[in-house]
Amino acid sequence: MLRRAELNPERKALVFEGQELRYREFADRVRRQAQMLRDKGVCIGDRVGYLGFNHPALLETLFAAQTLGAIFVPLNFRLTAEELTFIINDAGIHSLVVDDALRPVIEPARDNLCCRHLFSSESEAEGWLHLDSERAAAEPIAGAVSVDQHDLAVIMYTSGTTGLPKGAMLTHGNLLWNNINASMAFGGTREDVVLTAAPLFHIGGLNVMTLHAFHLGASVVLMRNFEPAEVLENFEKYSVTHMFGAPAMFLFVSQQPKFAETDLSSIQTLICGAAPVPESLIELWGARGVSFCQGYGLTETAPFSAFLTPEWAVSKLGSAGQAPIFSDTRIVDSENQPLPPGERGEICLRGPNIMKGYWNRPDATADAIDREGWFHSGDIGYLDEDGFLFICDRLKDMVISGGENVYPAEVEGVLYKHDAISEVAVIGTPDEKWGEAVTAVVALHEGQTLTLEELREFAQPHLARYKLPLRLEIVDALPRNPAGKVLKFVLKEQIVG
Ligand code: AMP
Repeated sequence: MLRRAELNPERKALVFEGQELRYREFADRVRRQAQMLRDKGVCIGDRVGYLGFNHPALLETLFAAQTLGAIFVPLNFRLTAEELTFIINDAGIHSLVVDDALRPVIEPARDNLCCRHLFSSESEAEGWLHLDSERAAAEPIAGAVSVDQHDLAVIMYTSGTTGLPKGAMLTHGNLLWNNINASMAFGGTREDVVLTAAPLFHIGGLNVMTLHAFHLGASVVLMRNFEPAEVLENFEKYSVTHMFGAPAMFLFVSQQPKFAETDLSSIQTLICGAAPVPESLIELWGARGVSFCQGYGLTETAPFSAFLTPEWAVSKLGSAGQAPIFSDTRIVDSENQPLPPGERGEICLRGPNIMKGYWNRPDATADAIDREGWFHSGDIGYLDEDGFLFICDRLKDMVISGGENVYPAEVEGVLYKHDAISEVAVIGTPDEKWGEAVTAVVALHEGQTLTLEELREFAQPHLARYKLPLRLEIVDALPRNPAGKVLKFVLKEQIVG
């Protein structure tokens, strides 16, 4: 960011709620915030967190932390105080910047948090561009601490199959290599206008186009939240060239009454991740002259490890694409032996975009990254003869609902505490709107009853909204193998048919 401001000081860097920042102004704000963090004692390697909706303050905190050689930890604003407390303390966050709107969530937990400083993200009556008195008084820091590509840039929390979130440690190199791969796949120039509506606490929203745009010296139009009607308005208003999102987001945008009449001619490509783009969506946007570049990846891979560029969208329909130029993909069996084209196994990924490991979890890191450096994704798929990746299933027990990952073990852990429930298993069932619906299959203690509303109300203090069951199925007993393990594939067949 600081270098960009030297190279292209007058270029437009960021637009947020109608107000704009040039790179020169952006860098000045970052330098002031870096000074404020330094005054509070933030040093190289310390963790600096941000809790809030999409806002310039999140990006300023990220760049300010990195100016000091500190590590940025974005937090999912949908999490409950209980979930946030775990992550903040696990990461050992030194200073946390909190959006005023989220203060009521975190304040009650303050005594249990390890962080030494809690900053307010300004919500000045004069608008976000106005510097609060503390920042206005701070002397902009002169230079940045020198970091190399192996130093940590961000820690991003992603839930584990054990139910507890783990911090994926991404280096400066990981972030940059993803952007190099992305540039090779779908280009990118300083003239781009990127619309960011996906959450910046997730690697997709943060790195796919937002940091990529800043690397290029392009402009980012940032939205506080994803509002489909506003996305359409912004396409036209700012002549947007690129946007990243999950398929469900582009579906909602296409369902807006103004979709047919909005000028989409500036869009070069939409970038889609988290799930394959259905044919109907490709056709719908294709009829408006807009194509999709699809990507497959994970938080741990910063994120993209395969791209399906628009020219392959039809002939390789359903594929997640090919490994980018600086990454490798292979499919292995349960003994970690490579499989030939066409055979299904676990998708393993290697390259300079693969995370360093999980924060303070050498055991989980060793499980995820093998001795040859292959990251085991937990996804099941195959490569065809042309090296195109097809994703078939998940080895890991995970539901993706509206682009958010839900780990059943975590939800089951909470639901088991309900007095009426004797057994519970959480599965994903197909859902037109959300892709998959979090579905709780429960067996009740004798004489007990339970409704979906009661179950959601019970779980709501402990789990973020997107993790709450959307469906409840009551059964006599869960199917189990002789060792007592719930047979989720049998259950899915029973429920989905
Ligand atoms: P996250 O760490 O939140 O980015 O989630 C990563 C997971 O999302 C992967 O392990 C996959 O299960 C799923 N995923 C990401 N991209 C795709 C895609 N293009 N097609 C199917 N599943 C995907």
